[in-house]
Amino acid sequence: MNPEFLRQCLLYFRDLGLRDLYDRTRPLASVSGVRTPEVQLATDPLPSSSAAPVAQVSIFDELLAAPDPTEDSLEKIRQDIGDCRRCRLHESRTRIVFGDGNPQARIVFVGEGPGAEEDAQGLPFVGRAGQLLTAMIENTAQREGIPLKRADVYICNVVKCRPPENRTPRPDEIETCSPFLFRQLRVIRPKVIVALGATAARALLGAREGVTKLRGKWYRWENIPVMVTYHPSFLLRPTGQAAKREAWEDLKKVFHYAYD
Ligand code: SF4
Repeated sequence: MNPEFLRQCLLYFRDLGLRDLYDRTRPLASVSGVRTPEVQLATDPLPSSSAAPVAQVSIFDELLAAPDPTEDSLEKIRQDIGDCRRCRLHESRTRIVFGDGNPQARIVFVGEGPGAEEDAQGLPFVGRAGQLLTAMIENTAQREGIPLKRADVYICNVVKCRPPENRTPRPDEIETCSPFLFRQLRVIRPKVIVALGATAARALLGAREGVTKLRGKWYRWENIPVMVTYHPSFLLRPTGQAAKREAWEDLKKVFHYAYD
């Protein structure tokens, strides 16, 4: 549908006093300022539209406010973030960590938020966890015979500023910052999104379960297949060693889906 026509329809309905418009294909967590009930998650091995997470949330204001993805760009999103002070995370950050990689990537990795090294350099996943992620991407791809380097994917986070002491971002911080992530994903429109850890899974899918339960299965975000797997910083912990094999298995599925 023509975006301007859709916009005019929405304005017309709003003028009539209709405020509830539901999107049955999107996770609830993707809508700002709305409480997030449980989302039904797809558990089938390959995504199908009938098994996608179901949203029951009014998206009226967001639809009116969201830029048309065909007119949006990563540069414009970065410009719109500016010297952002929209949430408390700006207080302790050194640099905003926007994202890095191939803007035409087939795969986008979404982490939780920048750590100390990322905050210092302004780039995502450059610390120890980032080095492990690079090794996981490149070694898995090589073993599977897929010509894929880290520079071929795009990497970003749910929140763009480092939470103090690397704490988990709070729900209001995620709500405030995640519209930028969603715009990045709509612009890149990858073949697959990899949610690294529970925060990314919650932001993209509205999922409240832990990664152990979510990982290894396919879900959808705006009709893009999503794989949930462990965050590399978890795999670096002594308790995360056993999960490495599972993470490698998850990446194998992702790479074959994106490149076969
Ligand atoms: S985390 Fe996001 S919303 Fe919060 S200050 Fe940083 S860029 Fe802005």
